[in-house]
Amino acid sequence: MSPTRKPPDPVQDRRGEFALIARHFVRPGSPRSPGVELGIGDDCALLTPSPGHQLAISSDMLVEGRHFFPGVAPEALGHKALAVNLSDLAAMGARPLGFTLALSLPAVDDPWLAAFASGLFALADQHGCPLVGGDTTRGPLNICVTVIGEVLPGRALRRDAAQEGDDIYVSGSIGEARLALEHLRATPWATAALPSLPKHLRDRLERPSPRVALGQALLGVAHAAIDLSDGLAGDLGHILQASGVGAELQLVNWPLTAELKALPEPHRLECLLNGGDDYELLFTAPTSARTAVDQAAKSSATPVHRVGRITQAGGLRLIDATGNARPWTARGYDHFI
Ligand code: ADP
Ligand code: MG
Repeated sequence: MSPTRKPPDPVQDRRGEFALIARHFVRPGSPRSPGVELGIGDDCALLTPSPGHQLAISSDMLVEGRHFFPGVAPEALGHKALAVNLSDLAAMGARPLGFTLALSLPAVDDPWLAAFASGLFALADQHGCPLVGGDTTRGPLNICVTVIGEVLPGRALRRDAAQEGDDIYVSGSIGEARLALEHLRATPWATAALPSLPKHLRDRLERPSPRVALGQALLGVAHAAIDLSDGLAGDLGHILQASGVGAELQLVNWPLTAELKALPEPHRLECLLNGGDDYELLFTAPTSARTAVDQAAKSSATPVHRVGRITQAGGLRLIDATGNARPWTARGYDHFI
């Protein structure tokens, strides 16, 4: 070896890269999914959507220090990297076909990669959504998943389809992920409220459940939908803007976990309205569809709650228990503000 030649980089080295992919991301017998003709191993994957369907495609990137804490459990990270993408398919009512994984790694750490892959594949298998390709390089830890789904033309649940008079619904419960995040950041109001962080709250932040079945069950029932990633107020704001309507949210009968109920009101509202990382679905449906919404919730085994209604215009109004509007400021999460 000449003295100027660098030792091979275990990630960039072609043998190293392929071996890493083979060890952690190629699974025996794949592709198994009916829509996947060719998976990992060629220049492109080949997918065949069901006859007459459109593709629904979305990417989400997770960057260390920005979207997750350094040192987070790799199994949870694998889960979340796919979950946030499946949540986007859920919000459109699309059925998952497959996903790709672009991975930048500071070093090859096999135990870390094995745990990451186990979290990733457990969720992928749950949703019948196989890994069909990707890219692997050396660099700061960065995970980008692109998910591909299918939906019949004209049926997807879009942000621009809310109509005046629609009910507004939210699936599951929201705000816990924000409470968990503030607790992990050791924010005084969060640590004062909870001496330690219960696992179920931490899981809401680190292991969200994408509402894929609910999204599909709402096709032909809901008008507009969005997944709650950046905080309810901001995300509902996207629907209002795209649809040219306003909204009223009732602050009573909100689905709250005990820990959120116990928070002082300003912090509770902050978690509920500006929280983020909930990965629940917010959707609108005409009042004539109330029974159908209940049916969709039942068939997908996902709780949904009616929390407000779409109005003609005028932005977002919060209505308190006495029926009065109350002032507040929207602060959805934005990486550039
Ligand atoms: P190319 O040079 O044609 O872009 P690569 O050498 O990057 O292909 O990758 C070889 C094969 O391995 C391709 O099928 C690619 O999709 C797949 N692949 C690379 N990285 C990953 C990964 N992190 N997860 C899954 N598949 C991957
Ligand atoms: Mg190629």
